[in-house]
Amino acid sequence: MQIPVRHAVFSSPDYPFDPVSAPVKLDQNESSEDFPDDLKALVLKRVAAAEWNRYPDLHADTLCAAIAGFEQWSPSGVVVTTGSNVLISLLIQLSALGGRVVTVKSNFALYGLDAQLLGSRLSEVPLREDHSVDFDAVIAALEGASAHADEPAGVIYLPRPHAPTGSQCPLDALERLAQLSRGWLLVIDEAYVHFGEGSAAELARRHAHVVLLRTFSKAWGLAGARVGYALSSDAVARQLRKLVPPFAVSVMQSECIRVALENPGYMHERVQGIVRERDRITRALSDHTTWKVSPSSGNFLLIRTPDAQQAFDHLLTNGVLVRRQDRHFGLEGCIRVTVGTRAENDAFLRAAHAAPR
Ligand SMILES: *Cc1c(COP(=O)(O)O)cnc(C)c1O
Repeated sequence: MQIPVRHAVFSSPDYPFDPVSAPVKLDQNESSEDFPDDLKALVLKRVAAAEWNRYPDLHADTLCAAIAGFEQWSPSGVVVTTGSNVLISLLIQLSALGGRVVTVKSNFALYGLDAQLLGSRLSEVPLREDHSVDFDAVIAALEGASAHADEPAGVIYLPRPHAPTGSQCPLDALERLAQLSRGWLLVIDEAYVHFGEGSAAELARRHAHVVLLRTFSKAWGLAGARVGYALSSDAVARQLRKLVPPFAVSVMQSECIRVALENPGYMHERVQGIVRERDRITRALSDHTTWKVSPSSGNFLLIRTPDAQQAFDHLLTNGVLVRRQDRHFGLEGCIRVTVGTRAENDAFLRAAHAAPR
């Protein structure tokens, strides 16, 4: 042993991200538009009036109440953390230490990374070729899990809309999974819910073991604020809160998010614009001779190219930064592009149409 660190941590890879700068940044599914100036000014005013010498709420209670009001959810069923990424790890600690994490592949990298760091067994069920979820295979993967009736079997992670493909699974299939997954925590990661066709909120209201993850990093244009939350049954939230460090959400974060929630109009308007632009890019690429774009319910598009490295380099040479996805299972040749402003999307489309075949 070189340093006293658990093997599971020592042998885990770093989070796969290389910062690259480019004039047109379409690599992280952020909002291309910043939080509106007038709302920023309001946040700064409220932050200036706050008492910085005092600890904030124990569990961001004021913010939880504001989120609950916005979502029409029980305040006792809302848990806020500094980014929903944090919740991915905490939910494994809640229900899958020594147990299992079941998800699909391709998938969002953190489900597998956190499972590995925490020593949980990971099962990844391949998506079908059209990127749809094979629910029979997911249900089959749950079998033979729970050795002890008094310990949970583990956590199931499903992003909906799916990242990084943009596909969206039907709610009736999720309902069936919810019915057949007792003993498991079923977590539906709704990071991109605003850009899709409806949330699983009704499902989560009816099943105490279903948890929704939400974030302010995408549709709300607040990736820099680092705030996300879980919506769950009161019973699950009460236990999950024990794992969140006390006083974790700062006064600055809380004021910022409350201003956003009081003024959601900008977000709804931008989402409509992003969806229109997403459909415009999809149509514009439909006649591309070698690039194939997948239908998307997110603020991004997955595109299969003959060679992801070549496509990435070509776009970057033209000032456009995208994300390679070709190391994922089943996504050979794929890149992912965030839907940006109209001008950014035009720059992307010009470069795409000039790409080497
Ligand atoms: C962006 C994203 C998140 C959000 O993470 P934050 O920590 O809240 O920024 C969560 N899940 C998926 C699948 C995402 O793409």
